[in-house]
Amino acid sequence: MADIVVIGGGASGIIASIIAAREGAHVILLERLNRVGKKILVTGNGRCNLTNTHIEDKYYHTSSKDDFSYPLKHINYETIKDFFEELGVLPLVEGDKVYPFSEQASSVLDVLRMELDRLNVDIKTETKVVQIIQKKDTWQILCENSITYDASKVIIATGGMANVSFGCDATGYQLLRKLGHTIIPTFPTLVHIVSSSHYCKMMKGTKITCDASAYVEGQFIRKEYGEVLFTEDGLSGPPIFQLSRVASKAKLEGKKACIILDLLPSMSYDEVVSKIYSRIALWGTRTIEELFIGWLHKRITIPIIKYAGIASLHMRCEDLEYDAIEKLAETIKKFVFETDGTRGYKYAQATAGGVKLSEIDLTTMASKKAKGIYITGEVLDIDGDCGGYNLQWAWSTGYLAGLHASKRNEE
Ligand SMILES: Cc1cc2nc3c(=O)[nH]c(=O)nc-3n(C[C@H](O)[C@H](O)[C@H](O)COP(=O)(O)OP(=O)(O)OC[C@H]3O[C@@H](n4cnc5c(N)ncnc54)[C@H](O)[C@@H]3O)c2cc1C
Repeated sequence: MADIVVIGGGASGIIASIIAAREGAHVILLERLNRVGKKILVTGNGRCNLTNTHIEDKYYHTSSKDDFSYPLKHINYETIKDFFEELGVLPLVEGDKVYPFSEQASSVLDVLRMELDRLNVDIKTETKVVQIIQKKDTWQILCENSITYDASKVIIATGGMANVSFGCDATGYQLLRKLGHTIIPTFPTLVHIVSSSHYCKMMKGTKITCDASAYVEGQFIRKEYGEVLFTEDGLSGPPIFQLSRVASKAKLEGKKACIILDLLPSMSYDEVVSKIYSRIALWGTRTIEELFIGWLHKRITIPIIKYAGIASLHMRCEDLEYDAIEKLAETIKKFVFETDGTRGYKYAQATAGGVKLSEIDLTTMASKKAKGIYITGEVLDIDGDCGGYNLQWAWSTGYLAGLHASKRNEE
């Protein structure tokens, strides 16, 4: 019988296994895929944004009203940086995002695998857990291949539903529900937003650095600045990923959401109006389309003119009425894209929702519902912004669980 069985060989389950084994526990790590840590390889576009120098509550989202910061404060950025440095991964800090100095996600996984080997963690791949049964003081773990494992403690680190090809589906939630846990409804986040606006198609492939604001039922929720990419079916790019949580949640709740782009955030509405006037004064005989050359990206000028309701692209700009000039300025400052959710779990980087945080002792990651069970990582009802926050949560909670599950007298 093992001291600890860890279910899920992702970031959180791997670090939990390492810490528990360092504390002297005999650990078995069960992973449904043919290798552990597959998702780590694709993080940060293959560079693995493994943490962030500024881990703060404001970069995390949960339905819980309680303080969730204990794991992040106790196993913080420094702890994780030191943990990886000891294994040989030097940090490369870009802004506040932290990558391995090699800029290869594979080096993060390599050192984790070497440490698992050094500590003799018993890794069983292609082993999908389907049931967890309590037997007096121990737990019996049943796998799809009919093999069972017994352990006194179980760490559940099955992740969320983002990116199914990396082993994620709803089985983790099913196991946890059977153990008495409440699952807050899940939805995909950090993902491309879908919009049926035909202007997306018109601007397909174009990248514009601008302000993007998310609204639900007409109410402002959040603003982000950065490079927005227009695609066939909607909007993408870093600011859109950050806002996708809003669009995704609105869709789940049947509410109307939209993204409003301010294509010239450095200028006020009045400044845009007077800029248009001054350009008309200089080049009045140019067509409206030509009026914007050298000022705005060519791929967005026709959509702006059409959205502003100006029928002819070829009229001379000196013939523009005041109303039309106002409409052009309004469009530049407030280009609205109604949203229709996101591209879904298949393309998402994270899952919002999950195991209710109040059912977990966040100082140890122990379940309050089932003695001897610990729950870590993305399967919990918390998700972070882009920037290394999700991996930090996975490392912090996995580390804590490994530490506490390995203490023989602690439940
Ligand atoms: C494309 C992409 C890029 C990302 N980039 C970043 C980034 O740069 N920085 C960042 O902070 N975050 C990033 N993330 C998010 C981050 O990877 C996750 O939040 C993090 O990996 C969650 O760790 P976890 O251990 O909780 O879950 P996971 O890493 O998802 O691991 C869960 C593991 O459990 C296994 N499993 C599931 N069910 C069972 C079962 N029943 N039996 C056995 N095994 C099971 C799965 O196969 C999987 O290996 C990215 C995500 C994606 C998809």
